[in-house]
Amino acid sequence: MRKESLSIHSGYEKDSQKTMAPPIYLSTAYEFDDTQDAADLFALKKMGNIYTRLTNPTNAVFEKRLASLEGGTACVSTSSGMASIFGTIMNLCEVGDNIIVADKVYGGTTTLTDHTIKRFGIVTKKFDPNFADELESLIDDKTRLVLFESLSNPNLVVPDFEKIVKIADKKGVITVVDNTVATPILCNPIKLGCDIVVHSTSKYINGQGTALGGAIVDSENCAKKLKNNPRYTHFNTPDLSYDGLVYCQLPFPPFATRVVLCILRDIGITASPMNSWLMTNTIESLSLRVRQHSQNAMQVAKFLTNCKDVESVNYPGLENDKNHKNSKKYFNENNFSGLLSFCVADFEKAKDIVDNIELFSIVVNIGDSKSIITHPASTTHQQLSKNELEAVGISDGLIRLSVGLENIDDILDSLKKVIS
Ligand SMILES: *Cc1c(COP(=O)(O)O)cnc(C)c1O
Repeated sequence: MRKESLSIHSGYEKDSQKTMAPPIYLSTAYEFDDTQDAADLFALKKMGNIYTRLTNPTNAVFEKRLASLEGGTACVSTSSGMASIFGTIMNLCEVGDNIIVADKVYGGTTTLTDHTIKRFGIVTKKFDPNFADELESLIDDKTRLVLFESLSNPNLVVPDFEKIVKIADKKGVITVVDNTVATPILCNPIKLGCDIVVHSTSKYINGQGTALGGAIVDSENCAKKLKNNPRYTHFNTPDLSYDGLVYCQLPFPPFATRVVLCILRDIGITASPMNSWLMTNTIESLSLRVRQHSQNAMQVAKFLTNCKDVESVNYPGLENDKNHKNSKKYFNENNFSGLLSFCVADFEKAKDIVDNIELFSIVVNIGDSKSIITHPASTTHQQLSKNELEAVGISDGLIRLSVGLENIDDILDSLKKVIS
């Protein structure tokens, strides 16, 4: 099946009630037939539900659906996008290890990788995903992953996938791609040779700003890379916390299996079944929404390009944009998402626009059907120092728009009232 059909049908098999919409299983735990049944489930001699911190049938429908859209082997839903990134790092790293992170990523990812994981003894090095020239020299024996975004929030950088994958494969290092902004409709990192995809499903997959969620998608590439790789001995030697199990010898995708058996078990970053149920429904219209968001954003980008108040517009859909070439090469269709950013002269001018615009809400979210305006320097990136702001490419005059699904003429009318 193709994506539009997968997003509607995959993952759900009707039970005896034949409900068209998947049921919500709000159950913390599951009954065992007898002690043998319980022992077999715990020993993974048979597969089944034990406790919702590990697995839940409502979560499973959403996980299968997203895995199929990404071309992955398995998916684990998490409580938020940040939980999926933290869980992925925890699944690969221990004290003394290092990770290599794109220099322009989501603000929460920047604070997590620059500050929080430092306290766990994990070091972060930075690379430029556009060129990736320095990537090979940054990788050492202790490097466990390379993390970047397929379309970065808020700078809209499209990485040079081919170069990054080539270097990471040569060195046997796992690539982790945050595919939140591009969504599986526009980009499929696993098909481009990457190993793990993470998502904040709170954004376009939810599409209406009603629920937080995240996901980790595993792949065939990742299973191959983990096997007998000296960087990942904990996937190839007995796990003493789980009966001496060796993840790469199981008949299941090793990365996702370890996320469930260790990370969900011990850290509990599990998705709420209620939220997964919402995502299972909203993902059905993802392709239509992403295309309309993209077309609206394209028109907004073209309008802003011609405004004298605007110094620059970042939108990969514009032919002269520095990310246009990579997005044409790596994206599935001639659409470029609903996210764009532009620069005005200074903080005061940005404040004037943000405070006076109609229709757009001042909100730190993206991917909602409702149009959103954000001033990163005073909100999402406020915790970063001046130097850090400069390093992630955010100036005082930068404004981010998440263009919604309203009629394009209403969107343009509201912009015209505050920007000329
Ligand atoms: C929002 C976002 C996250 C964090 O997701 P939450 O669901 O808010 O925790 C991570 N990466 C990107 C690219 C995002 O836009």
